[in-house]
This record gives sequence, C-alpha cells and structure tokens, in this order.
Amino acid sequence: MGNRDNAIDRAKHFFDTNAFFNMLSGWVAVDTGSREDDRKPQMLVYLEKIMTPYLETMDFSCRIVENPAEPCAPFLIARRIEDETLPFVLMYGHGDTVPAMAEDWEPGLSPLKLTKDENSGKWYGRGAADNKGQHGVNLAALDCVIKERGSLGFNVVVLIESGEESGSPGLHLVCEQEKQALQADVLIASDGPRIDPDIPTIFGGSRAVFNFDLSVHLREGGHHSGNWGGLLANPGIILSHAIASLVDAKGRILLSELRPATIPASVKKAIDKLTITGKGGPEIDPLWGEPGLSPAQKVYGWNTLDVLAFECGTPSQPVNAIPPKAWARCHIRFVADSDPETFIPAIRQHLDAQGFSMVDIEAVPNNYGLATRMDPDNPWVQFATSSFETTLGKLATPDKKVSFLPNLGGTLPNDAFSHVIGMPTIWVPHSYGGCNQHAPNEHVSEKIIREGMQLMTGLFWDLAEQAETIFDKKLF
Ligand SMILES: [Zn+2]
Repeated sequence: MGNRDNAIDRAKHFFDTNAFFNMLSGWVAVDTGSREDDRKPQMLVYLEKIMTPYLETMDFSCRIVENPAEPCAPFLIARRIEDETLPFVLMYGHGDTVPAMAEDWEPGLSPLKLTKDENSGKWYGRGAADNKGQHGVNLAALDCVIKERGSLGFNVVVLIESGEESGSPGLHLVCEQEKQALQADVLIASDGPRIDPDIPTIFGGSRAVFNFDLSVHLREGGHHSGNWGGLLANPGIILSHAIASLVDAKGRILLSELRPATIPASVKKAIDKLTITGKGGPEIDPLWGEPGLSPAQKVYGWNTLDVLAFECGTPSQPVNAIPPKAWARCHIRFVADSDPETFIPAIRQHLDAQGFSMVDIEAVPNNYGLATRMDPDNPWVQFATSSFETTLGKLATPDKKVSFLPNLGGTLPNDAFSHVIGMPTIWVPHSYGGCNQHAPNEHVSEKIIREGMQLMTGLFWDLAEQAETIFDKKLF
C-alpha cells in the first residue's frame, strides 16, 4: 500500500507545516538537565507524559523500567509488534540533556523555549540537537511510513534512557536484564554530528573514553619558596614531566600501548574518503596529534591522550610557596583496536621505568565502555547508504554523497547494543559539529533536520518493503 515518494512527501509536509517544530518545542520545554540533583520527576514527565502518549499514537506499548544503577534515571521501553516472527529493529535515544545553563545563553534565547532564527535557519533550545531533536526525527519518520503504508512488515522496539549525559549508568545492566524485550536484528539510532553540515552521514560505532587521574603528593602543606625552593621537590613540575613522557608537546602519544597498532585497511579506505573541513567549528591545528595521519584518520582511526584539568597549589590565589601536591585528570579517546584494561598497567610500568614512581594513577570509576566499529563492507551499511542515495537523488541536490564513518570520533554507549545485546548498529546523525551541544546556544539546523526526516522516512520505507527478503535471506 502507498508509495515511497508519498511517504517522503508526508515527512516534508510534517516539517513544512511546523508540526515537527511544535512537537519538539514541547519536548525541549521539559527540563531534563542531567546533572541536576534529582531529575527523576522531570525525566518521568518526559517519558510518561510526552514519549508514551506519542508512541501510543503509533500503537506502541510502553513501560517504565527502573534503573538498577541510578534511581534518578529511569528507562522507557516501547514495543510495536506486528508479528513476533517478523524481524525487529531497535531504536534508541536519550531524553536527558546537559544542564540548561540559562544565564549563559545569548539575549533573546532561552534553553527551554525552542526558538527559530529565520535568518540562519537554526532552532535554539537545550536538547534540540542532543538528543531530543534527533530521536524526534526518527520517530516522526517512522510515523510517516506507518501512516502511508499501514504496516511496517517489521517490529520496532524503542529504548529511551535518561542518564546518557552522566555516562549512561545502568544502561548495560538494563540491556542485560531486558535482553529479550530489546533483542533486535539491527539498531537504527541517531546522535552526534554529521561529518560536515552538508553531508548526510552514517556511522557504525564510536570511539570510547578512558579517564584517569595522575597525582603527586609529596608532603603536607606548602613551604615558603625563599627558604625551601631548590631544596624541596615540586610536585607540579614532576607531574608535568610525567605527562610529557606520555604525550609530546604536539599531542603525539609516546607510549605505544596507548596507541592502536595500525588502522585496518578496510577502515582506512573508508576513512580516506572523508575530509574534515572543521566548518562551523574552531580552526584546526594541523600539526597537532599523530604525525603522518590525515585529520580524518586522527579523529576516526586513532587514539588521543589529553589533559582535562590540572591543579597545583591554589590556582585562584597563588602564594610564594612550594606546593605539597599536584593532580591532573587525563583522558584517552580510543578506537575498537585498543583494550582499555591494558592502559593503567602500561602507564604504571612506563612511569616507574622513567623514574616517576611517586606519581599515583587512578582510573576514574565506571568511566569507560568499549569502543565499537562497523566494517564498511557490512550489508547494513550498504543498505542504508543506497537507501539514502535513492532519497537524495530525488532531493534538490542530486550530486550529494553519503559519508560512512566506521566509528564516530565521539563516544556513545554503543557497546550496550553491539556487545551486550549483540546486533549490528547503524547511526545516522542529524546535527553538526558547530551545534553547541553541551554549551549555551545549543541548536539544530533546520536544513539538516528536514533532510534527515526525508532520509529516515526513505530508510524505514525501504526496510518495510524489503524486510521479508533481506532478513529471510539472512543476508544481514
Ligand atoms: Zn550529549
């Protein structure tokens, strides 16, 4: 029933008549700022009063699942079952946002009031890009296909979490506990930025984060530098040198155990098709990072070691004394080839060998998942790419190409799906690097959202049309 073009027309209509803007306005208005002490009441408003009734209009049955690790961050699991024997698609999003930061937004903007700037085509609001607008696009697209086609030919499970901005506590546990309810043949979800605002992008996984603290505590209290300078070792200087032995002055990781051995050929081939322009963001420092790698290889194919914070003495009120201690929070982003379990032992061994045994190392608790990656030759990647190309061919700019990233440079809790439940994962970002997510003036680009709605409608349409064949053939 129905046809693909009509489904996409429905998506355009939904967007162009402001229905999407109005829907998202209501979602953004709920203050789900994740680091607030008790966000649960607001999160429940989002899950029970907004998501549930919306999903029920599409015949989903919804239930709240308490979070076994973090009571403030409940989950919503919604299932739309046409026939248990049909294939399953899992969709994921997060309803929590970073704190609103209302006082820091530009005059005229307010984080909880979605505001359209007609000139720039930007819609400002907390969570507009990360992640309410993104799961909004996918659910609205699904709705267009259901309305046009009557049925999907596959089952859909939606999982919305409320703790993503605080490291997804309990997500892996819930994926384990609810494995049966969440089991699916593929994950299709959206978060993060496109590689370039104008280039529709698919990514198959994400790098992961490993945070650790280095500290040097030599004695109690500071000592007058006139009497003791030159006699007492300075923990700030020792710590700086310890860090400098791990990463050089141009950001190259010196300790080989913290770098991937290589970039696999198929991954390298996919990455080498990508260009990072940095458009919409700060100017790139071309000489920073691993020498010999392209900017895209640095972000998608390699690891980085950074210092997030460094403290020695009293930074707000320095005094002429040798400080007793120094502390730094360090941060590794790593790709799927690296095993985070090996990082601390390697750093310990290295620091001892370099004469830095007085430097203590401590992993920040619960700070990492596994990095994940999809092979560019995976049939799901091919399927989504060709669906998008079909849709783009019918849009006003038929010369557009789709970019595929084996993994995102940033981090998502994707291993919960790829490893804990076990399924291929396709991510389609509906935002861009300059969207100010996690900062004041967060916004989405109208152009990207409008195009995203059409791409996702086409994707769900193609999946509906071909579900039986592609899943039956076990091609995927
Ligand atoms: Zn975020």
